[in-house]
Amino acid sequence: MNIVLLGAPGAGKGTQAARISEKCGVPHISTGDIFRKSVADGTELGREAKRYMDAGELVPDEVVIGIVKERLAEPDCARGFLLDGFPRTVGQADALSGALAETGRELDSVIDIEVDTASLISRLTGRRTCRACGNITNVAGLANEPKACELCGGELYQREDDTVATVTHRLTVYTRQTEPLTDYYRSKGLLRQVDGNRSPDGVFEEISRIIDGC
Ligand code: AMP
Repeated sequence: MNIVLLGAPGAGKGTQAARISEKCGVPHISTGDIFRKSVADGTELGREAKRYMDAGELVPDEVVIGIVKERLAEPDCARGFLLDGFPRTVGQADALSGALAETGRELDSVIDIEVDTASLISRLTGRRTCRACGNITNVAGLANEPKACELCGGELYQREDDTVATVTHRLTVYTRQTEPLTDYYRSKGLLRQVDGNRSPDGVFEEISRIIDGC
């Protein structure tokens, strides 16, 4: 099954993507994770991407599209894939359908996780990431903020792009550049919207009905 997961930053795409990937046995391809790894590895790509990420801007289409095309050409994507955080612009969506058509593939489903703006801001600014294993802990509303990861004890930190100013900007960028993709995929009959203002289990239950049979 070839799936795209849409949703604003903080909608819970990463959490749901991990579950979908496990259920369907398809690779989870997160462009954000690819960029974060490049930053951590100190590569040329990482240095370029970091400037955009820290500012809450999108990495230019030509950079992202090349990376995703290469990834989709890998053998583990032959049986399907789950894209998380790509496409984010209409240009990326057009490039994706072109790349898939070249290899006789097409998308089966585009799942859009919808969450109200106030919750997105609280989720993102309350997000702490483990430096060691990448696990995310949400500290929103907690009186005593944990300093260590509950999974591995690693140090928790706030990603540069999860600060209030950058989060606000990321949401503006999302509305301007990524939200048009809902109409884009609706017009192709691929869009399935789910209510993300619920527990991860509740959201996954609804998604499971959409991907039933994968
Ligand atoms: P994410 O973890 O998906 O929120 O991505 C983190 C950051 O990586 C984004 O704010 C962008 O700067 C960059 N990024 C990830 N995916 C894309 C994409 N498809 N197009 C452009 N920039 C991206």
